[in-house]
Amino acid sequence: MSARLVIMGPQGSGKGTQAARLAEHLGVPTISTGDIFRSNIARGTALGALAQEYTARGELVPDAVTNDMVRDRLSEPDVADGFILDGFPRNAAQVRALDEILEGLGVQLDAVVQLVAERTELLARMRKRAELEGRADDTEDAIARRLDIYDAETAPLAAAYAERGLLVSVDGIGDVDEVTGRLLGALSSLV
Ligand code: AMP
Repeated sequence: MSARLVIMGPQGSGKGTQAARLAEHLGVPTISTGDIFRSNIARGTALGALAQEYTARGELVPDAVTNDMVRDRLSEPDVADGFILDGFPRNAAQVRALDEILEGLGVQLDAVVQLVAERTELLARMRKRAELEGRADDTEDAIARRLDIYDAETAPLAAAYAERGLLVSVDGIGDVDEVTGRLLGALSSLV
């Protein structure tokens, strides 16, 4: 089944896990900007060196860099029939960039999925992840900074996509299978 989706949700909402499950179900690749940055940091590329300065603090990598990276990725043949964008767009300028990129490719989004969860629950989950995974950018300060940026810059994008009739909001609290079931149910009429 071909589907072009964006998945949005604050850190700790289970966005990455659910994106992977949806991608498997739909048979399309996931494009996670966070994963692409982490892979570049691990490989010591120039892009990685630049991104690290921002990711370590929980700040957004500059739009020009991120948008170019997404444009390149969306031009690759494996995403011609569909994709799930995870972690992009994160602000209004990135929404405009994505519109331009998709227009250039002659395709449109089918839906924007938003996972919703309370901040207290998210903080508890993130502290647990920090203990278990030891991700370099899971410091208390960076976690709080990422949640603040999400509330200020990313959450408002949901309203913009709702106006276009694309938004599907799903409760992100519950066990993993339960949330996946909700997502598939909410998307069943669209994809
Ligand atoms: P994530 O894995 O989605 O939490 O992303 C990890 C980090 O990568 C973020 O805190 C940002 O520093 C950076 N990043 C990921 N996606 C974007 C984006 N769309 N725009 C700017 N920076 C991003």
